Amino acid sequence: MSQNTILRIENLYKSFGDNEVLKGISLSLNKGETKVIVGPSGTGKSTILNNINMLVPPDKGDIYLEDINITKTNDIHKVRQEIGFVFQDFGLFDHLTAKGNVMIGLTKVKKMDKKDAEELAEFELERVGLSDFADSYPAQLSGGQKQRVGIARALAMQPKLILFDEPTSALDPELTGEVLNVMKNLAEEGMTMLIVSHEMAFARSVSDEIIFMEKGSIVEQGPPEKLFNNPVEVRTKEFLLKLT
Ligand code: ADP
Ligand code: MG
Repeated sequence: MSQNTILRIENLYKSFGDNEVLKGISLSLNKGETKVIVGPSGTGKSTILNNINMLVPPDKGDIYLEDINITKTNDIHKVRQEIGFVFQDFGLFDHLTAKGNVMIGLTKVKKMDKKDAEELAEFELERVGLSDFADSYPAQLSGGQKQRVGIARALAMQPKLILFDEPTSALDPELTGEVLNVMKNLAEEGMTMLIVSHEMAFARSVSDEIIFMEKGSIVEQGPPEKLFNNPVEVRTKEFLLKLT
């Protein structure tokens, strides 16, 4: 494996009962790369992300975070600390402020002292443009602001990789831009990110590769220019055209 490989997935299979959801998925992500997984709903995109942090263990296949085989490790808690996860529905604690939400993983999981955690939380909130909202509760924030808190919380853990599962699909259209902009900045800063998204213009502009999935398999993956302009598979063209 290349020294630069952060994530490597090999031949992943997952079924729920007799519903075969993942049928041999392989992909990898080098340090600093952003890849966007696209495909119809029910295709297994979320299942891949859930497999990566073992919320849903795969039936077969291997997942490496650098040189650690996540499917075989006996310290999954440590691995999970190194993988950020940004959810569609934000997953914030309503009884904590924006800053409290960013701090909680630092104090509870990383055992950082309160003052250091607070400083880091303020830094990460500034990074996502929310310095003025550090003391606001989720109920006082817009959807876009909530999602930016979710991103700040992931960043604060200083993960090797951040997984995003449709981070803007619960947002009103006028609020998606602020979230996508933050993600675009992170891509430019060299964060390693695996993103599930239907935002094709965004995928096209930020990703090093687009991964097109259908019915549990990767149909085609490659640089956005290649997939948009010169795909190998007719299905790829049809899918991408429908969304642009
Ligand atoms: P996508 O994210 O591409 O929309 P998912 O990975 O969420 O697709 O789901 C793929 C398939 O797996 C769907 O048919 C879904 O109903 C099924 N599925 C996902 N999670 C579970 C679960 N925990 N139990 C049973 N079936 C599930
Ligand atoms: Mg999904």
